[in-house]
Parts: sequence; C-alpha cells; structure tokens
Amino acid sequence: MLETLYGDVLAVPDHGQVAIYIPELAGVDPDKFGVHLATLDGRRFGAGDQDERFSIQSIVKVPSLALAFKDCGESLWERVGVEPSGDPFNSLAQLEYEHGIPRNPLINAGAIVICDILCSLYADPLAAFLQFVSEISGLPEIAVNADVAASEWEHGFRNAALINMMKSYGNVVNDIDRVLDLYFHQCAIEMSCRELADTFLFFANHGRQVGGGEALLTSSMTKRLNAVMLTCGFYDEAGEFAYKVGLPGKSGVGGGIVAIHPGHYAVAVWSPRLNMKGNSVKGMRLLEVLTTRTGFSIF
Ligand code: GLN
Repeated sequence: MLETLYGDVLAVPDHGQVAIYIPELAGVDPDKFGVHLATLDGRRFGAGDQDERFSIQSIVKVPSLALAFKDCGESLWERVGVEPSGDPFNSLAQLEYEHGIPRNPLINAGAIVICDILCSLYADPLAAFLQFVSEISGLPEIAVNADVAASEWEHGFRNAALINMMKSYGNVVNDIDRVLDLYFHQCAIEMSCRELADTFLFFANHGRQVGGGEALLTSSMTKRLNAVMLTCGFYDEAGEFAYKVGLPGKSGVGGGIVAIHPGHYAVAVWSPRLNMKGNSVKGMRLLEVLTTRTGFSIF
C-alpha cells in the first residue's frame, strides 16, 4: 500500500519551492522523494529515495529537546513554554512581547534556549548530543555536513537576532557564539528516511531503545515530548498537520518530515519542495493519505 500511495503522490504536480536561504539547500534536486516506515515489531516498508541522506534541519529539535529534558526534568519549562506559537518558525515578534521566553522548544528561539542549556551541561555539547542520537537511533555514526553548518553561520542573521534578544532578557547564559555553533551543527545533521525512522522509533517506543534496550526517558516524559511534537512540530501549520495526518511529528526546511504512532511505528518522508509555511508539500500529502487509508493514526 505504501508503494501505491507513494506512486499516487509522486504523480500529483507539486509547486512547492526548495529552501533557498543557504546555497547548500537551494542546490538540492527538488524532485527527490523518499519514504520509509519502520514498525516496533521489526517490519519495514519504503519507496523512492529512502536511503539518500538529506539535511534534517529542524527535525533535530526533537532529539535535542529529549536530551535536555532527560537531564533537567520539569525545570526545563522555566526557560521555554509548551504552547503552539501560531507563528513562523523564526519569528521575532512574539519573543519580544513574551520577554524572551520562547513559546515552545520546536521553534528556532526555543531550540536555541535548549542549546544554551546543553552548553551549560556539557563541556563538548555537540559530541554529547551526537552520542545521545547514536544511542536512541542505534546508528553507529551521525553525519554532520560541515559546509551546511558553515553556511548556516554565514546566513544566520535572524537566529543571531533571536539569541541576542533572549540574551538581553537573561534567558541565554552562555556565550552566544558557542550556543549558535551547537544549533547550526545540529541543523546540519544528515540522515536518510530510513535512519530518521529508526531514530524516531525511540519516541514511539515510550523512550526506550528499540530491541529490548535501555529506557533513556520515562514513558511519562516521552508522552510529554510527543504531545509537544503534536501541538508544535509544524509551526503555524501544526493544527493542519494534526487535522490531516493525526500523528505527532516534526518537519525541517530540508524537506523532511517524521511522524510517529506511539506503540506502533515511525515514518519519515523526504521531498524538498516546501509550502509557504516551510513544510514539505509531498511529505504532508503522503502522510495524510497514509493515515487516512490505513486508519493508523492516534485518533
Ligand atoms: N536551519 C534552519 C534555521 O535555523 C532550520 C529551520 C527549519 O528547519 N525550520 O532557520
């Protein structure tokens, strides 16, 4: 069925635009399209460019939040909220009138605060983070594209504005360059749909490594993380994604979307053409028809 749905969505013309804010993303073939679904009982289904790595961008905000939440517990929420923003992912306006406390950890401002927290916790926060992603995904190595990270730095004016504003309100404690360096390297992680699905199976498995491994988060914490994904994972399109797809998930401007059905499966899609809200057009469409046809959604 997944192959049929993939073929159906492939055939529909898609006028979305590839992200152009850095040359590395602007140069990606816009017609790439892949999907991979992995179930907790070990079955796999996929189609298209499912094994080609792409820039996961904001999808990384979920494992980053998971590591900070694991280490800090509920005190994390003194620095960042859990409400949907209803605003674009890189909006400055809301941050000003809410005194430097980001609405949630899955918009840029919130993810930058999470990076600040990781910078306080670890001498080498990037190494600690990559190690954590390895542990939850079972992948021996996590690829970071140094050119993408450098380009994020070069064009990161808005993220620099966000962090400076938060610093002025006292909600960033570390050196700004150190925090942004972690954030930009996180955004530059590359994974295939298969690798992303494997990484997010951890969240579908209630915070336990897949295959009888260790519980790295409690199931209550994982429930909370998954709730934040459902309400905040798609910026000002979170309602639309919940309405159409009915799963917690997260998108990135590289064109990836990953979604989970707790207790059942994780599915990752990649198509670089984005809609006006920065979410993959084909990715959303494929997930919509998948959950509609199978009925496998949390609702
Ligand atoms: N690197 C991007 C940024 O910080 C990530 C945004 C996204 O994927 N939505 O602007």
